[in-house]
Amino acid sequence: MKIYTYGHPVLRKKARSVQNFDIEIRKLCKKMIETMRSSTPRGVGLAAPQIGISLRLMVVEHEPGNTLCLANPEILSSSNGQIDQEGCLSIPGVYANVKRAETIILRAMDPIKKESIEFKASGFLSRIIQHEIDHLNGILFTDYFDDLSLLELSDNTTIPEALIRRFAK
Ligand SMILES: [Zn+2]
Repeated sequence: MKIYTYGHPVLRKKARSVQNFDIEIRKLCKKMIETMRSSTPRGVGLAAPQIGISLRLMVVEHEPGNTLCLANPEILSSSNGQIDQEGCLSIPGVYANVKRAETIILRAMDPIKKESIEFKASGFLSRIIQHEIDHLNGILFTDYFDDLSLLELSDNTTIPEALIRRFAK
């Protein structure tokens, strides 16, 4: 599946909740995991809006082979802060140090088991989940910066025009 990149309006929409936990949602989870894994560089998280589907659905693979598919995620509480480098499949080659909560308590629907789950996440997993929840609310990690020079670029990366325009405002 195609990953939509910075500047596409679907990335700025607040996604709607998943209502029907049917076979289609399970298929979508599978496709999203495949898309995340086959992207270059391989992704560790993907939100449905990134493939053009404005639904509160996300997949995570914080350790190889250990995947999560979460619908309608909700952060119940969060504590402390962590700063680390972050990137996004929708803004390829662009990285920055982003401050996130260290630990979160999350509630979400598991679309495979069709049940509500609640768990604690810390560190890298917590960071990925917070990044993906931002996508469901139309927020991109570059929104946390007001200066283009705070972004790091990998080789041969050009900053998307739409991102340059945003910083120019
Ligand atoms: Zn992202």
